[in-house]
Amino acid sequence: MTYGTVFDIREFTVHDGPGARVTVFLKGCPLRCRWCHNPEGLPPAPQLMIRESACTRCGACRVKCSHSECQPFSRCLHACPSGLITLCGERFSSDELAKRLSGYAPFLKNGGVTFSGGEPLMQHEFLSELLTKTRPLHRAIETSGYAPQRIFREIAGLCDLVIMDLKLADREQHKKYTGVYNDVILKNLQYLQQSGREHIIRIPLIPEITDTKQNLLAAAELAGDSQVELLRYNRAAGAKYETVGKKYTLDGLSAQGEQALPDISIFRKAKIL
Ligand code: SF4
Ligand code: SF4
Repeated sequence: MTYGTVFDIREFTVHDGPGARVTVFLKGCPLRCRWCHNPEGLPPAPQLMIRESACTRCGACRVKCSHSECQPFSRCLHACPSGLITLCGERFSSDELAKRLSGYAPFLKNGGVTFSGGEPLMQHEFLSELLTKTRPLHRAIETSGYAPQRIFREIAGLCDLVIMDLKLADREQHKKYTGVYNDVILKNLQYLQQSGREHIIRIPLIPEITDTKQNLLAAAELAGDSQVELLRYNRAAGAKYETVGKKYTLDGLSAQGEQALPDISIFRKAKIL
């Protein structure tokens, strides 16, 4: 049996596959998309989130404590009088998590469970066991597609639905804005389309980065007959960066007015979420 690290479990989500779902966020991602709104999901290990802007520097959390859960960190998780410190990332065995998820079955009649992240394929052994152990629930993954082809194919074969991102079609632009080249992503996408497996391609609409006419035309070409969902830019994307000691570098986008949405008739099957 394998163990994995999860940073959130959201009940009754409605945009991560059909029906009402439970979405599990697996920790760790090899990409660094500049617009990522889950910066706490990127490092694979559990970590502290601290609201530094409200911290009075009283030092209470720096006093050595005896709680076992605090020992990996240099601070006590329970000492802050303002509750500014939270632990992000919980370890589960696949048995334990699958049992918990299966317990939702009576409430998820037309829905199921979706494994998201971070990048869920980073914990592919744990994910593989979860996908097997949560049958007969409807099981989806939400992935960047950035994984070795063997792993991608094995995991896709265990899912009822694969929701896969297509961020930037241009190789150099992809590297510039996500930190990695898109070669393996495009190979995995092509496999998915040819496999006949149920899938949805998701394109985040990041102003002047992914929502350009050039990128969307290229994405439409790559999408072909696949179902496409275009995701509006999340203006609150930068909200959690401070708590993990990072700076959100697309801050200027948040201040701009209503996002102009693209003409989606260039896609054969598309909708905007
Ligand atoms: S206990 Fe809270 S307020 Fe005090 S130093 Fe730690 S985080 Fe800041
Ligand atoms: S692939 Fe997703 S989780 Fe990973 S950095 Fe990009 S937006 Fe964030």
